[in-house]
Amino acid sequence: MYPRVILKGTLIKKSQQKRRTSPSNYKERFFVLDTQDLTYSERRPGKKPVQKGSIELARIKCVEIVCSDIPIPCSNKYPFQVFHDSYYLYIFAPDNDCRQRWVRALKEETKCNRLAVKYHPNFWMDGRWRCCHQTEKLAAGCHEYDPMGFASKKPLPKTPDPERRLSNPDLGRVVVVAIQNYIPHDASDLTLKKDQEYVLTDSSHPEWWAVQDDRGNTGFVPNIYIAEKSGSNFNRFVWYNKNITRARAEELLMQEGKEGAFMVRDSRQLGVYTVSVYTKAPGSNGEKNPRVKHYQIKDTEIEPFRFYLAEKYLFSTIPELIQYHQHNAAGLITRLRHPVTLGKDNSQNSFDVSQAGEWEVEPAELVLGEELGSGEFGMVLQGTWRDRKVAVKMLREGAMSEEDFKEEAMVVTKLSHPKLVQLYGVCTQHSPICLVFEFMEHGCLSDYLRATRGHLSPDTLLGMCLDTSEGMAYLESSNFIHRDLAARNCLVSKDNEVKVSDFGMARFVLDDQYTSSQGSKFPVKWSSPEVIKYSKFSSKSDVWSFGVLMWEVYSEGRLPYESRSNAEVVESLNAGLRLLKPRQTPSAVHQLMEWCWKEKPEDRPSFAVLLHELASLSDL
Ligand code: ADP
Repeated sequence: MYPRVILKGTLIKKSQQKRRTSPSNYKERFFVLDTQDLTYSERRPGKKPVQKGSIELARIKCVEIVCSDIPIPCSNKYPFQVFHDSYYLYIFAPDNDCRQRWVRALKEETKCNRLAVKYHPNFWMDGRWRCCHQTEKLAAGCHEYDPMGFASKKPLPKTPDPERRLSNPDLGRVVVVAIQNYIPHDASDLTLKKDQEYVLTDSSHPEWWAVQDDRGNTGFVPNIYIAEKSGSNFNRFVWYNKNITRARAEELLMQEGKEGAFMVRDSRQLGVYTVSVYTKAPGSNGEKNPRVKHYQIKDTEIEPFRFYLAEKYLFSTIPELIQYHQHNAAGLITRLRHPVTLGKDNSQNSFDVSQAGEWEVEPAELVLGEELGSGEFGMVLQGTWRDRKVAVKMLREGAMSEEDFKEEAMVVTKLSHPKLVQLYGVCTQHSPICLVFEFMEHGCLSDYLRATRGHLSPDTLLGMCLDTSEGMAYLESSNFIHRDLAARNCLVSKDNEVKVSDFGMARFVLDDQYTSSQGSKFPVKWSSPEVIKYSKFSSKSDVWSFGVLMWEVYSEGRLPYESRSNAEVVESLNAGLRLLKPRQTPSAVHQLMEWCWKEKPEDRPSFAVLLHELASLSDL
């Protein structure tokens, strides 16, 4: 008899780290659970799947979620573990529901095995268990393993008030899937059959939700037994208009008349969504101007579904996708600037420059001092603001697209992390516009490296890379792309702490010598191949630049590809050549640089992974 397939889908798997310094990697694998094995294979478009591993279910001793106390270094943030033989396999699911589905199914299939009595709830990492600090990988677990406890011991929630009846008009059609069988306890409950779909009709009770099965029977079930299927209810988002036609959307957006005014609406095709956006940008085919463009939100068609718009920037959920495109055009005619909703009040959502917000600095509170330097946007002065030392950037007229920047200032002031140079606020009431930043005693990192050449310890150099990766991991997790990461755009505090600065600012530069990849000021030597060729910026293009920044740190402020022109650099990159290892770079750090300079963005590590790797090197 053939084994029956129980569950399948794409998840991320962590490799077993063989050597301590070798970068652990996280690979997408197509997992299949059947009644005999858990198998995973590599799938590439147009190629036959290659099986990479298989675990006989009879060998599994424990399956449980992992409770992590550190950032998860890959795009799937929901880890679980499969302990078999004497190995721990860590697998990462894209969301909690998906993780629960896998963990429950695996537990169900292995419940008759000889199971572990105890297990480790946290990761094995850098030579010890993060939960109990034991340094032996096969040391007995520190937590009781109770695979079926959830279902058998946890008391069911109290029965809801029978008077409270179904149907919430706001809910729309939300489809849920049963992740476990449920046998009704009284007449108002409904039977759930694992993996079957139901329509959610009431989700107002904290524990008991009402659902309808395919025969029209309705009743209550514990909400821990169901998970929302993809395709959600977006009513709580200001950008969503449910029942709106294409013509009505165009009418509303034309009325709004603001560049980047947008909305998300249901397409005519069931379950598909469209983004409609207003623009005044000239079209290439003599299109009407201004006009409304419509982009259908597509999905990757294989599980786990990821969503994308004009280009393949993939997101697990539509709200994440919209949030990203609110900051990045990334293939759209304009970024999504002003959400427009029928019947909802938009006033607090669109940024009105005349209403000075918290990010507006009162000129009277600002005391200006000596000049610190000057850069692309103008002069930088030392200053004082509300009893703290600040650096004030005075924007040279014509250097920056000011209207766009004023809108973005609100977003940038909200980004806050100890390894980012904080933008305290902007002063837009007089010309020139001033940006008020946290003051950094030692100025920019590239100058500092040159000035201290030969005097910085290996620990300090590694610490500088680690600091930068921390700031960048935060930007990455906020879906914010730096676009011009380099040692010259990082600053050093009086304790040699490095912080990332000037994030996202490249978008507002007006000088096309700087913005065009052909321009003489374009930072070609820090740019990834896809940025040079197609201006395709992403967190992975920031990762390439970070590799160059690590090179700058270890060469103590030398200019990358010193005497070569931009054209020569492009030619040697195309030939597969890369910067050479600076003399004092440890080989583990050099491996990380080379990893950042992989031709394909998807082969490069994320900042979360880099942060983790650099942190483990600094622990040694
Ligand atoms: P731009 O972004 O306009 O190119 P920079 O950020 O390069 O300008 O700033 C020019 C110089 O001003 C830097 O090299 C640095 O010496 C100084 N500077 C900039 N920001 C700060 C700050 N927050 N604290 C201290 N010095 C700063």
